[in-house]
Amino acid sequence: MQAAPLFPDVRLEELHQRLLVHYGRPPEREVWDPLTQFIYSLLSSRTKTETTHQVLRHLQSRFQRWETLRDAPIAEIEDALQAITFAERKAIQLKTALQQITERYGSLSLDFLRRYQTEKIRAWLEHFEGVGPKTSAAVVNFSTLRRRAICVDSHHLRVTQRLGFVAKSADARETEARLMEMAPPTWSAPMLDEHHMLIKLHGQRLCTFADPKCAVCPLQEQCPTGSSNLSTRNRTKHPAGKATSETFAKPLAK
Ligand code: SF4
Repeated sequence: MQAAPLFPDVRLEELHQRLLVHYGRPPEREVWDPLTQFIYSLLSSRTKTETTHQVLRHLQSRFQRWETLRDAPIAEIEDALQAITFAERKAIQLKTALQQITERYGSLSLDFLRRYQTEKIRAWLEHFEGVGPKTSAAVVNFSTLRRRAICVDSHHLRVTQRLGFVAKSADARETEARLMEMAPPTWSAPMLDEHHMLIKLHGQRLCTFADPKCAVCPLQEQCPTGSSNLSTRNRTKHPAGKATSETFAKPLAK
């Protein structure tokens, strides 16, 4: 058994508490079966959360069963995916993945994955085209599998890099590995999910790609990028005072 570190890294816990105070506790996720989560996550890249939810609901009502979606012509699937980014490519990836799941398992379900260890599930999922660590983490963490993993999307990656937890060149896999090292071992799968939701919201509301609001950021004290930005910017550009209005009132990222 590995000995506990003499000086545990508590930065992630502190950051989590600050974000909880600032944004409030995220509402509980609607947890889906692994296959539905897989389909959602495959479609979600470069597409707004709300749009992906709408498209998923549309697929459910148009095809009724995932088997019907699997067996539909590519053109029909592409038509149903029109609202999302890269609909043409994703239609092919989705149909191919659903066919391959059926071939490999014998029926269209991912429920059998619950028998396997998390790393094995993720490696299995990442064999499908278009599936990387972000999607495999989402499937194991967000779905009824509820395993320990952190889904590092573009917001999570950017915030983590700016906080200096990983290098600017780090990718999602490297970033997740670092965050999992930093996460307290007592954090359960839903707790890691909550952490993802908080960081993602932070990336959407304050630590945005083009204009991070460092002057009103609750993480400013522990953020080297924020210190650097504030020393070079005119502080009056982002007057404080609106920080607590950024809550989970807006739709949550999946
Ligand atoms: S201080 Fe600025 S760069 Fe750092 S997390 Fe906050 S908004 Fe992002």
